Amino acid sequence: MIRLRVGALRQVVPDTLEFCWTLVRDQQDMPEAELVLELVPAAVRCRACDRQSEIESRWSVACPECGSADVEVVAGEEFLVTSVDVT
Ligand SMILES: [Zn+2]
Repeated sequence: MIRLRVGALRQVVPDTLEFCWTLVRDQQDMPEAELVLELVPAAVRCRACDRQSEIESRWSVACPECGSADVEVVAGEEFLVTSVDVT
């Protein structure tokens, strides 16, 4: 089983990823291997009001509290393989 952590700000479509995975799996001849996607919500820290919030849309990275665009992305850019367990 392969565990993948994908941030919401990454331009990764889970369906596409899963489709690619089935191709790899067939090629590697390990039909039992499973891909588990862990989606991480995006979060920003606002420099204007100093609050940290999760954001809904990847297209508008702004503080939901005060509307400031002066924010720092603190989560949502992950793309990590967190565990690989192929038997
Ligand atoms: Zn703010």
